[in-house]
Amino acid sequence: SSARIPEMPGNDEINDLADQFNSMLDQVQRYIEQQKEFVGDVSHELRTPVAVIQGHLQLLNRWGKDDPEVLAESLAAASQEASRMNSLIEEMLQLTRAEQVEQKNVQEVTDVREVIMQIVDNIQMLHQDFSIMADVDLDNEVSVRMNRNHLEQILVILLDNAIKYSATRKEIHLSADRDQQHIKILVQDFGLGISPTDQQRIFDRFYRVDKARSRERGGNGLGLSIAFRLVKAYGGELTVDSVEGSGSIFKVSLPILPTFENSDAEEENTPT
Ligand code: ADP
Repeated sequence: SSARIPEMPGNDEINDLADQFNSMLDQVQRYIEQQKEFVGDVSHELRTPVAVIQGHLQLLNRWGKDDPEVLAESLAAASQEASRMNSLIEEMLQLTRAEQVEQKNVQEVTDVREVIMQIVDNIQMLHQDFSIMADVDLDNEVSVRMNRNHLEQILVILLDNAIKYSATRKEIHLSADRDQQHIKILVQDFGLGISPTDQQRIFDRFYRVDKARSRERGGNGLGLSIAFRLVKAYGGELTVDSVEGSGSIFKVSLPILPTFENSDAEEENTPT
């Protein structure tokens, strides 16, 4: 764009500075584009619930309020859409916060095994028609440097999805183990599965394979993008393995605490 600094033939120092400036400018511009896109996406997502609420209010206004049945139905529908907007706003805030997480500023140490057990218990309690099997091969010593709440969010998102997109087999397997440096958590379901093309997009914000189905189950298309950003922010990876029609496995890997301790020690020993 026009604000870029042009090349100065023969002056390397100025050219280096110009390059740095130009790449900063590119970064800022990319950021502004992303923000614009986000605002566009959000407006689009809010349009539907607002339109539904407006429609019901107009109906009530014209004649609906005189028919007790219509009155009750419209009020219930409008209130449901208001709750949907609420959860959308809450999830957008979570996404923004996930983007702001900086692992280096987090001091909290979280026991992975304990968090997994607690979340599995909670979700099992809420969905008694499902059988959630947890196979956690970690001792109590295995910790990550992570905000506890963030680890909980990641697990809740994956387990909720496994339930939301299940089919007849109401079973979910969660397993966790570790290698030298990482904790690996797998969440497996035997539900709808995801096609290879969709697998590439499900971590994008607002992306839903079947919009109607997701909406009907209260989904906003933000869960996986929140989980993905959180896992990334803590130096981990979130991937999916899935076969359409037979189920999915979501895999989380997170660096184990000693990795951070080592890098801290190095920093402290570095002469300044
Ligand atoms: P949503 O709120 O729609 O569940 P997510 O970001 O959590 O949003 O997921 C994005 C999309 O990925 C979902 O709409 C669904 O189509 C697909 N998806 C996520 N988890 C699973 C799963 N376990 N099995 C099948 N499809 C899934």
